[in-house]
Amino acid sequence: MRPLLGEEEALAAAEAVRSGWVAQGPRVGEFEEAFAASVGAGHGVAVSSCTTGLHLAVHVLGIGPGDEVVVPSLSFIATANSVRYTGATPVFADIEAETGNLSASTVEPVLTERTRAVMVVHQAGVPADVDAIKALCEPRGIAVIEDAACAAGSTYKGAPVGTNALLAAWSFHPRKLLTTGEGGMVTTDDPEWAVRLKRLREHGMSVSAADRHHGGSAVIEQYLETAFNYRMTDIQAAVGLVQLSKLDAIIARRRELAARYHELLADLDITTVRDPEYGTTNYQSFWVWLPEGADRQEVLAGLAERGVSARRGIMASHLEPAYCGHPSTELPATEAFTARTLILPLFHDMTESEQDTVVSALSETLHASRLTVRG
Ligand SMILES: *Cc1c(COP(=O)(O)O)cnc(C)c1O
Repeated sequence: MRPLLGEEEALAAAEAVRSGWVAQGPRVGEFEEAFAASVGAGHGVAVSSCTTGLHLAVHVLGIGPGDEVVVPSLSFIATANSVRYTGATPVFADIEAETGNLSASTVEPVLTERTRAVMVVHQAGVPADVDAIKALCEPRGIAVIEDAACAAGSTYKGAPVGTNALLAAWSFHPRKLLTTGEGGMVTTDDPEWAVRLKRLREHGMSVSAADRHHGGSAVIEQYLETAFNYRMTDIQAAVGLVQLSKLDAIIARRRELAARYHELLADLDITTVRDPEYGTTNYQSFWVWLPEGADRQEVLAGLAERGVSARRGIMASHLEPAYCGHPSTELPATEAFTARTLILPLFHDMTESEQDTVVSALSETLHASRLTVRG
């Protein structure tokens, strides 16, 4: 992964600095509106990261100690941690191997009378089948939150991921498609939640610092509840606005490179990430399943020797020390996915010849470890 940052972002950041308004201000407001519109949501609330956004999403639902929130273990660890921050218990559900995502049938077995929410992740940009999970959860009064950290510009049933989301959280870390250095956003269609989320990210203040400043008359704020400092800066939002204008081009290029990977890798005995039947991925990560029996460490080492920097696939949170002793059911698909996948290089400026190098390095490495080639 290599972020796509240019002179326009540098100028936008400089302009925010020169304006003297560097903390949360008018550019944050503008970025919230533009981003929410781009993902089909009514309101956007910018925050310091997707992690803090997920925390606020769980918090705003009134979830806390004694409550359970279903999450995939196969995710960046922030997904499960955001539940723990509220005192509630993350409950791990397995994933479907084809998408790397929760499905109604993997969620159903872990629901209990304490389940208050399910946090669905659109892992690596591949959309999850949210409607099927909502159909399972809504009749039981269980909320569906979307961890859309990786999913800006992915689509679900013809609309952007985020459309009709109860609460979705997004990331602008440089590992994702759009970046503000660090940063995140919560989107929702509910105007009351949007107001409360804005208050929660800013110490529970009744009037935002920016509104007080621009108000003209002296306004004394009140602190309505114990809250957080999870704000985004105007410098970040200025960069975010420029990045957002590039989103369509970024996705078009990634999908073009992904299609080329599909063609070039067709003869190898591996399974690659693809669009599910109900949507399209932004190919935030191009993951591949290695053949059964392949030693992933050996493959990664073989690629590194040939100058290719690949990464292990998505982590499984329940296998990390922070979750040692945390109760969990068996998660066979999660464990197979995390053990047997790796992520190939894919970035906007990647050339065809760089991509050819990756493909031949992978092919040679698999041959060298005497693994079969199809056909
Ligand atoms: C990156 C990521 C996060 C965390 O995002 P930050 O903005 O770095 O806090 C959460 N969930 C998933 C699925 C991610 O990929």
